Amino acid sequence: MRFSFWYYIGKFAWVLFLLIVLDTIYGDQSLWLSTLGAMAMGLFVFFGIIGMILGIMYGTGHLRMRCPFCKESGPLESSKREGIWMECPRCGIIRGSGFLGLVLEAERPIDES
Ligand SMILES: [Zn+2]
Repeated sequence: MRFSFWYYIGKFAWVLFLLIVLDTIYGDQSLWLSTLGAMAMGLFVFFGIIGMILGIMYGTGHLRMRCPFCKESGPLESSKREGIWMECPRCGIIRGSGFLGLVLEAERPIDES
């Protein structure tokens, strides 16, 4: 499981949702919109099912993802306030920062020594 991939899927899920909504409202009037809507719906269901499986794995503490920097795997963490991040044993905390949180950055844990 690549953390960066799932991180960006989570970020852009609303685009799929928007396409589905647009298709529902205007789909009858435009072929390309209904095609896009159908594709978005397919992706939405696909990622929804995988998301559900990941959610169950996360709930049971079995979800680990691959660090985008060193490919080491570490546990995924999340909170309502801060979104999702992962802990890499080598790089520290991996989370989004910058414009809309689109850049993934490694944050070294504070050395306690
Ligand atoms: Zn790492």
